[in-house]
Amino acid sequence: METVADYFGSLVFNDDVMKERLPKDIYKALKRTVEDGKDLDINVANAVANAMKNWAIEKGCTHYTHWFQPMTGITAEKHEAFIAPAEGGRVLLEFSGKELIKGEPDASSFPSGGLRATFEARGYTAWDPTSYAFIKDETLCIPTAFCSYSGEVLDKKTPLLRSMEALSAEVFKILKLFGTDAKRVITTVGPEQEYFLIDKKDYARRKDLIYTGRTLLGARAPKGQELEDHYFGALRTRVSEYMQDLDRELWKLGIYAKTSHNEVAPCQHELAPIFTTTNIAVDNNQLTMEIMKKVAERHGFACLLHEKPFAGVNGSGKHNNWSISTDNGVNLLEPGDSPKDNAQFLLLLVAVLKAVDEYQDLLRMSVASAGNDHRLGANEAPPAIVSVFLGDELTEILDAIAEGKPVPGRTKEKMQLGVHVLPAIPKDTTDRNRTSPFAFTGNKFEFRMLGSSFSVAEPNTVINTIVAKELKEFYAVLSSAEDFNAAVSDLVRDTYIAHKRIVFNGNNYSEEWVAEAERRGLMNLVSSPDAYDTLLSPKNIDVFSEFGIYSSVELHSRYEILNDEYSKTIHIEALTMTDMINKQVLPAVIEFSSEIARGIVAKKDAMPDMRLDAEMDRLAEIEGLENNLYKAVKELERTVAFAEECTGSSRAHYYRSSVIPAMEEARTYCDQLELIVGQKNWPYPTYGEMLFYV
Ligand code: ADP
Ligand code: MG
Repeated sequence: METVADYFGSLVFNDDVMKERLPKDIYKALKRTVEDGKDLDINVANAVANAMKNWAIEKGCTHYTHWFQPMTGITAEKHEAFIAPAEGGRVLLEFSGKELIKGEPDASSFPSGGLRATFEARGYTAWDPTSYAFIKDETLCIPTAFCSYSGEVLDKKTPLLRSMEALSAEVFKILKLFGTDAKRVITTVGPEQEYFLIDKKDYARRKDLIYTGRTLLGARAPKGQELEDHYFGALRTRVSEYMQDLDRELWKLGIYAKTSHNEVAPCQHELAPIFTTTNIAVDNNQLTMEIMKKVAERHGFACLLHEKPFAGVNGSGKHNNWSISTDNGVNLLEPGDSPKDNAQFLLLLVAVLKAVDEYQDLLRMSVASAGNDHRLGANEAPPAIVSVFLGDELTEILDAIAEGKPVPGRTKEKMQLGVHVLPAIPKDTTDRNRTSPFAFTGNKFEFRMLGSSFSVAEPNTVINTIVAKELKEFYAVLSSAEDFNAAVSDLVRDTYIAHKRIVFNGNNYSEEWVAEAERRGLMNLVSSPDAYDTLLSPKNIDVFSEFGIYSSVELHSRYEILNDEYSKTIHIEALTMTDMINKQVLPAVIEFSSEIARGIVAKKDAMPDMRLDAEMDRLAEIEGLENNLYKAVKELERTVAFAEECTGSSRAHYYRSSVIPAMEEARTYCDQLELIVGQKNWPYPTYGEMLFYV
């Protein structure tokens, strides 16, 4: 029988395959390129391309594509056949080093936020040799970065790679000071992915799901998630077959899909992979989302990755587990068991605290979208306020350090870094505080604000960059210090004292926290347009340009794209809603009430003093709601039309402050009608039918 080990990674041109198929010197040259960031020689590229092509053709491929991640957040590909004409009407299969290294997709339809208007119209893709090529749908996919000809980035991958390099360099310098052995530093990510699975037949009958990925209308079902009987519950056979199939597809692609379980909301599930190097984790997560949808089709499901497909039950997020490690696999956020390791750990820890505190706005911005606004700051965790959970043990230790008091449970003497070993810090494997947006969980940080449909590229670009910034400052202080241990101690203490306000171990859902956070001066950027507006503040432009992640021009373009994407999303939602109301809901309501009216006339005809309470009351009730709905949808149409008058950020704010409330108003009447109009008259599947199907 074929085992997992037999097919794991069988669709990936990974290190083993390269070792086996490339001449030794070529393999070594490629490794050098990958590990030391050296330029790729064209002869090496030719040899690699040839080996890749042969491998792919043996696996049944006919095409190749440069696989890239434009700023739309999804992946893009343009398939090219390997074929080239040969004499006698025959065909040759070709793939050169040049084709491997560089592609030129027609980039004009990808969002560029004005970059292409100002600069060069064309864009090109460049192979990222640090991420393995793989096969999908009989096509060899080559992970690439996407830039304009004048060098501006047009994708999410390039800034991510730059931020990884920046952080790696800064951590490396710090490790050197501590005398820690490492050749390279890597950032690691493990993204936990939530999703909904509903029946494809129901999906196909809802225009809102088809056009927008979420239900724009829909009354609550009699049952929701209140019994908490879905979380970790036994999997339905159909779902478990789906998960097995999904795991198998992901394993073939070398993705370490590890944990699957039911989530809190009905029909909601989660998949968590084993963590890996950040850029690979990004690629893998993009692929995972794509494969999730594809496998769902085969099983008669629709996989919903929207942040809030259904009102009233939990939405879907993505937990971005993040850490830093050395090339020999030492996790640098693991509290050590020697004094030196502990001092180093605490220094990295307070660097993260400082980064999160000083760049709350950037972190919030990196997870802002129309979809995620239904979670963050709405009635769902985490809130829009960024804070860090450290856990009681670590907080007590840092408090003791700050106050110059003995460290709890350890020693009577006061804590001196470089001298004392920290008490054991328990690893939080159980997510004790599920409400925190940025939680330290024993040996890594878990950034929990990401929406389920997000690329993890941008949030990690931000985390890497801001932590690099703080470590660079730390290095400047420490490298010139006379007494290194004392300087580390002071830095840990002073940084903690200065940024302690960002630490919050309590319940992030509570009203009190909102007030407390305000007292502490923390930001509460409730909506996406508010969050976007912080992107271009001087300190944010500075930090990105200091490390060469984004230029000011690139940031301005991002800003434009983000606002534009937000406005377009709400625009499509508003049009879909008016379409459903005008073409489906109102006709259904009119028909149902006409039936009642005809019935009343007929019955009164037959027996004039019939009371007909149900009919009369219902008719009146429906009439009231119907009129309100009609008025609301007209108002919505007017509000949307007016949006055409504004642009950029003011347009996004307008959608947020005017169009969304108009949609909410229309929805209330619609949902009330849904509860009283006859079942056979209602034009689309209800929440009950979709979420509790048998
Ligand atoms: P939990 O389910 O309690 O959140 P786990 O420790 O199993 O706990 O981790 C969840 C996710 O965190 C997994 O995707 C895992 O791979 C990832 N993870 C664990 N260690 C690291 C690390 N050092 N760097 C990045 N991600 C990590
Ligand atoms: Mg988790």
